Amino acid sequence: MDERIVGWLQRLVQIPSVNPSHDGPSAHTSGEGALVTVLAEVFRSLDADEIIYDPVLSKRDNLYAIWHGANPAVALLDVHLDTVGVEQMTIDPFGGEVRDGRVYGRGAVDTKASLAVALAVIEAHQRTGAPFAQTIMIACTVDEEELGSGAIALAAWLQKRKLRPHTMIVAEPTECRPVYGHTGLVRLWLQTQGVAVHTSQPNRGINAITVMVPIVQAYIAEHQRLQTLPPAALGHGTLTVSRIDGGRGLNIVPDACRIGIDRRVVDGESAVAVQKELLAIAAHASGGTATHTFITDAEAFYQDPHHPWVIELCAFHGNTATTAPYGTNAFAYGDIPACCVVYGPGSIAQAHTEDEWVSVAELSRAADWYRHWWQLSSDITA
Ligand SMILES: [Zn+2]
Repeated sequence: MDERIVGWLQRLVQIPSVNPSHDGPSAHTSGEGALVTVLAEVFRSLDADEIIYDPVLSKRDNLYAIWHGANPAVALLDVHLDTVGVEQMTIDPFGGEVRDGRVYGRGAVDTKASLAVALAVIEAHQRTGAPFAQTIMIACTVDEEELGSGAIALAAWLQKRKLRPHTMIVAEPTECRPVYGHTGLVRLWLQTQGVAVHTSQPNRGINAITVMVPIVQAYIAEHQRLQTLPPAALGHGTLTVSRIDGGRGLNIVPDACRIGIDRRVVDGESAVAVQKELLAIAAHASGGTATHTFITDAEAFYQDPHHPWVIELCAFHGNTATTAPYGTNAFAYGDIPACCVVYGPGSIAQAHTEDEWVSVAELSRAADWYRHWWQLSSDITA
């Protein structure tokens, strides 16, 4: 089985799928398109009952494969196809080299590892000729490494089809520990407008920085207020004024000022409601003169770690569920799946690195869990 997983992973790594936002001269092709074309063929060869292209962005489709099982319960794996860029890598990003019990290359751990495991497990099961015990769906999503638009499209598709997965894994390298929560975020720019004049006569103009100061102060106060609230399961929300630009010269009253805000959202908060609150705070502090530009927002992800399936997964590996300091596609799914965790082989410490790798032992551990999760016979060998 291990050789088959490694073989699949090498093949996946050898097909570049760099997110266009991370494009560069070494990326070869940008986007997930080439990988989607190959995977559609692979799913056909593995006798998937349904293969669905879900358009997300220009020439960037999600690809879904479904194997119907005797039991209508659906087990869903969301695995993102895109990777970060390769320009700073010190190894061949698309070589898929196997050395010292590791597979190297961009995407080897984040997150083609999970896809390789899934393909090898399904391939081995199909050789037995036995039916699947439950319905299995693999959702290959685009654009995780930039905006998560593939995850948003998958959530919409599931709702449209009224498909509520019984269990769901969002694939990311978690060292086979189920991750049951991470914060969401709201990011935005705020601009204030002034009137530039010579600093020798400042009263003739309007200082955009001076207009911005009460907004910054109000946001500092808001961060402090958040820390006094009863903590959510994921802790407290935070608000950081993380950028500030303004002014043109030491002798010019600034005509423009801009700040960037990063607000981390916890479970129980709505990212949309938080956006409105942030704008209301700015409007109150500036007398309604500030304008804004939203950058991005994502809901917090929280799954009750006492759900029987999470407990089963922890017991299987002899570990405990945890939270993640980073965001994942899980922000998009809310209560669509009955139970959802972030899970996968390998460590986030090797993701996005100059010599990205995953250990074969971790691939093997994840494959054991996938066979158990999908109720497949555990004595299958390659
Ligand atoms: Zn990832």
